[in-house]
Amino acid sequence: MFKGVPTLTQLNLRLLNAKNPRTFANGLVLLQQEQRNKATSAKTSWQQLEADANHSKVDVDVYSQEELVKRAKFGHTGKEVQQKIAAEKKLRTPPLLNLVFANRKLSFYDPASGPKQKERHDKLHREQEQRNAEDVLFDMFASEETGLISMGKFLAGLKTTGIRRNDPRVRELMDNLKRVHKLNNYETGSSAETQHLNRETFKAVVAPNIVLIAKAFRQQFVIPDFSSFVKDIEEIYGRCKDNTLGKLADYIPQLARYSPNMWGVSICTVDGQRYSIGDVEEPFTLQSCSKPLTYAIALEKLGPKVVHSYVGQEPSGRNFNELVLDQNKKPHNPMINAGAILTCSLMSALVKPDMTSAEIFDYTMSWFKRLTGGEYIGFNNAVFLSEREAADRNYALGFYMRENKCFPKRTNLKEVMDYYFQCCSMETNCEAMSVIAASLANGGICPTTEEKVFRPEVVRDVLSIMHSCGTYDYSGQFAFKVGLPAKSGVSGGMMLVIPNVMGIFAWSPPLDHLGNTVRGLQFCEELVNTFNFHRYDNLKHLSNKKDPRKHRYETKGLSIVNLLFSAASGDVTALRRHRLSGMDITLADYDGRTALHLAASEGHLECVKFLLEHCHVPHNPKDRWGNMPVDEAENFSHSHVVEFLKSWAEKAGNAPAECTPEAVISKTQADEEICSTSDLDHSIASSPIPSPEPEVRATSPVPSEAGSTASTVSVDKTKPGL
Ligand code: GLN
Repeated sequence: MFKGVPTLTQLNLRLLNAKNPRTFANGLVLLQQEQRNKATSAKTSWQQLEADANHSKVDVDVYSQEELVKRAKFGHTGKEVQQKIAAEKKLRTPPLLNLVFANRKLSFYDPASGPKQKERHDKLHREQEQRNAEDVLFDMFASEETGLISMGKFLAGLKTTGIRRNDPRVRELMDNLKRVHKLNNYETGSSAETQHLNRETFKAVVAPNIVLIAKAFRQQFVIPDFSSFVKDIEEIYGRCKDNTLGKLADYIPQLARYSPNMWGVSICTVDGQRYSIGDVEEPFTLQSCSKPLTYAIALEKLGPKVVHSYVGQEPSGRNFNELVLDQNKKPHNPMINAGAILTCSLMSALVKPDMTSAEIFDYTMSWFKRLTGGEYIGFNNAVFLSEREAADRNYALGFYMRENKCFPKRTNLKEVMDYYFQCCSMETNCEAMSVIAASLANGGICPTTEEKVFRPEVVRDVLSIMHSCGTYDYSGQFAFKVGLPAKSGVSGGMMLVIPNVMGIFAWSPPLDHLGNTVRGLQFCEELVNTFNFHRYDNLKHLSNKKDPRKHRYETKGLSIVNLLFSAASGDVTALRRHRLSGMDITLADYDGRTALHLAASEGHLECVKFLLEHCHVPHNPKDRWGNMPVDEAENFSHSHVVEFLKSWAEKAGNAPAECTPEAVISKTQADEEICSTSDLDHSIASSPIPSPEPEVRATSPVPSEAGSTASTVSVDKTKPGL
């Protein structure tokens, strides 16, 4: 388990188990001497410890070289303290120290110290005893055999929740790992991220980031079951990969040179959960995906009133670079070329009138960079020069707008046009763009850095325009089919925002005839066919779409409460609804009580009949006290129910003796039957929904009573379905 690499944890274990502590303590003194030569960086308590230790001197010559090598293998971050105590107390050998975790810090103490210190140490001990998130995590991942946690496994586990090692929110954890690794004198070739730690060291290492880490492992992120979600994304990605339709943009050589096979998708949720697949680090230029971003800066700085006194909010219904203005002689919206050029003029004439062109470029870049949480934003000069060369239409738009007095005063058209080309030529990749999309999904706060970049009102306005105008002349269809704000660009990018959930960036250079990335578009459509992300998808009632926002058991738990409540209150109509929604009617609560238990104990005969005759639930499930529904009916003196249940049990005859429902976990056979459309409740026959085959009731052990809802033959087809 140790794989030949000694760890701090091993040492601690050895120290604690040592028959002769002094033997070890001697070794630690040597180590301290050796490690004193190694510089550490930050001004931390760690460094403080080392600084303190430097006050004392130890003569290492008394130890043999062999022993020195042997002992040098075992590092201990407490040795400096030992050294100090030994020097102060004039001890010949340093005392054995204990490592404690308290106040979210790793510290060491001398158990033989005075009463005052002892009191403090007792308090520390008490804190140490407390079971907290760090302990729980340790127990989750630690090996029973060694009592150590493999950080490799731990970080891999963290990754499945969507949190990566390079996430700025776990930087302290990673730094601490490196420190511990260094202090332990790891042999070369070993890695800080794969070391094994004991409980206390682990707790100290994770403590600064424990809030985020605990949230991740408690599945409290917006996508709780991130790995299942990712599996679906992988499948959609794979299907889009096979789509080889579309043509590369060829108005400038740099875009025409891309491989049409390039295809990448990156996802970042509002909680900073990340997933990427394909060519996600390949650089490409922002092109039109820069438009919502410059628009957002203008809104942030000038407010919507000013901005929209220059540019409209309507879809143009025309191509993105069409030479056309709206009826007010304004560009239709900020997502088409004319509107974006105008936004650029607002930036230079109104937002930063005193800045030079170079300063405005830097200023804009720094906004973009903040939105990416520090991830890759660069500039492609070749694209910029080509854009400027091949810009007849864009210049024409500029002159046409100047002729129509669209620009604010003091506009220098040449500079504005250059600025527009620069924004289009900023370079990025899928990874960074997914963080920008997520910042927009997150109301303007970058999820990875938690920096507030834009006000939520600004983001709302940007998303509204993206929703109606973001995909060129496909925007109407996109809003209809996908129902989400998005922005595409001529380099093959598609930025998709699922407000309050996540940002997605899909990139593939081949474009359709309207200028949208073919694979990106397919991805968005398939995504919304799989998940209920469309703005108008119903989130309340179950549908055949998945809702990855919910905890796997959350929906089930709530539904069970509703189901049991319906049974207890005698609401047959509600029970029907549950059944038709595909729910497992045999589910039980924590006490093993099913809908049938509750209906029986409350004396609701109609419900009991419905559950047995239509839902085929077992008549004899036992709750945690061993009671069956018939016992419940007897206990509460509902003789008519007792009679019915007894006769059902008799007629069931060879039915299996007893059935213990599995609380909230597994789907039973009855559930499978309910889910199969051929076995729906008869009342559906009269529903406007096309009816499945009539139910064959021959297997029902109890003949239905006349007029009962359970009757299979005399279905009242005039009754409304539900
Ligand atoms: N640079 C491109 C242009 O202005 C950007 C347009 C786009 O991405 N659709 O023509």
